[in-house]
Amino acid sequence: MNQSLFAEVGKHLPSDLSKPFIRTSDGGGYSYAEMLRSTSQFSHALVELGVQPGDRVAVQVDKSPETVMLYLAVLRVGAVYLPLNSGYTGEELRYFLDDAEPSLFVCAPAFEAQARELAQASGVARVATLGDAGDGSLMDAVQGKPGRFADVPRASTDLAAILYTSGTTGRSKGAMISHGNLVSNARALVDYWKISSSDWLLHALPIFHIHGLFVAINSLLMAGGSMLFLAKFDAAEILRLLPQVNLLMGVPTFYTRLLDQSGLTREAVAHMRLFISGSAPLTAETHRAFFERTGMAILERYGMTETGMNTSNPLDGERIAGTVGFPLPGVELRITDPGASEATVLPQGEPGMIEVRGPNVFQGYWRMPEKTAEELRADGYFMTGDIGFIDDKGYVQIVGRSKDMIISGGYNVYPKELEQILDTLPGVAESAVIGVPHPDFGEGVTAVLVATKDHTPSEAEILAALNGKLARFKQPKRVMVVDALPRNVMGKVQKNVLREQFKSLYS
Ligand code: ATP
Ligand code: MG
Repeated sequence: MNQSLFAEVGKHLPSDLSKPFIRTSDGGGYSYAEMLRSTSQFSHALVELGVQPGDRVAVQVDKSPETVMLYLAVLRVGAVYLPLNSGYTGEELRYFLDDAEPSLFVCAPAFEAQARELAQASGVARVATLGDAGDGSLMDAVQGKPGRFADVPRASTDLAAILYTSGTTGRSKGAMISHGNLVSNARALVDYWKISSSDWLLHALPIFHIHGLFVAINSLLMAGGSMLFLAKFDAAEILRLLPQVNLLMGVPTFYTRLLDQSGLTREAVAHMRLFISGSAPLTAETHRAFFERTGMAILERYGMTETGMNTSNPLDGERIAGTVGFPLPGVELRITDPGASEATVLPQGEPGMIEVRGPNVFQGYWRMPEKTAEELRADGYFMTGDIGFIDDKGYVQIVGRSKDMIISGGYNVYPKELEQILDTLPGVAESAVIGVPHPDFGEGVTAVLVATKDHTPSEAEILAALNGKLARFKQPKRVMVVDALPRNVMGKVQKNVLREQFKSLYS
């Protein structure tokens, strides 16, 4: 039996195959029938290019519906999809190609010459190009190929993708994701968020990352739903297109930028079924501001490359700001003592390492057995590296990453607790709290702020406002104001960049 994601998709096709699968804002795109035909043609082209089952196919292209056809075709031929952030250049790409040893590298047409050099240096057999206007050598190879393809069967444990983590806490690691991982997670999301064939998703996320690729595309596919595809996020454009959809999946910066638009009103979203946020913490402030403006509570969920989605606020119950909701059906979640070597489960309410187990948990890090052994326990639990607790209503709250936890004078300081208070102070637009080397305390708690347009608070003002609100050891030793917090494309604050910037502050 074929247990691949694509075989599963085949069981959930909409009854009317002329229904749109992907539509672009200029009216182009693919119906479900066209998707079946196109992915067959892409599959034949991949076979012709020498792609064998189990081979990695590295893809670094601009977002387009054809990229989705390529992704699905890679699954159909039994190969392993390896999307790469379109921002990666020369040396960075070299690392991924050397590490993953793909047999084919698909790149943007303008990048072909450089890609060929890189491919040669890394021993990648073939290079093909795919442009966002439906151009490139791969598209040429696709033309005229048969519209049917006999899929290569896969077991649920066979790899479907290698997805590199965002590299927020260190070098990106290749997470090995199986067909079973993808199928179970997509099913869980379809059920939990009640995604159906009448849903239209506005898709404005990149598709080299788990959020835009698996969370968005796989769950819509698994429900026979439709997507309106945008090359990138543009708040005004989103508002203009919103009447055509009823679902939006975004990172928190989508929502802060939408809030800057005067057109974001109750009327503008009255027809929307759901706004979903993830990939980085949505501040309680943003959640509340969005609710005040639109009457809709953003549904926040939590996941990562290695596990897919783990928790979600409920569709029907209360969506609580600052929480990531409940473990999804099939996902077991526990909080353990981050200092203990054996798994020691902490009492409810106490912050500790978030660990998860379930059919969503990945197969390990590609060619990093030691790293895999460090983070995947023998009993199947994965140590996420996130610190959180389960509150008295059972909602999971994330307080930060273990690597961002500050140890100052022997005390643990969780940045989020401070950031939440800082964000409410006059003149503070946003904040990041970091630990940097300190001669007396080991690490000095340091607040980095972005000021609002109308007022830049002084260090003394901030320190005075915090006094009495927080234990002394949690109070920042210094407060620094910057123009903007460094963020990656997914809107994640890069605290490693800030730690580097302020590393000599106390020396
Ligand atoms: P790396 O593992 O390479 O350091 P990364 O962890 O940022 O990078 P991803 O897998 O893209 O790479 O991101 C997963 C992380 O994103 C989670 O571990 C968590 O820290 C964060 N995250 C995702 N959703 C949420 C959320 N709703 N609230 C808070 N944090 C979130
Ligand atoms: Mg991570």
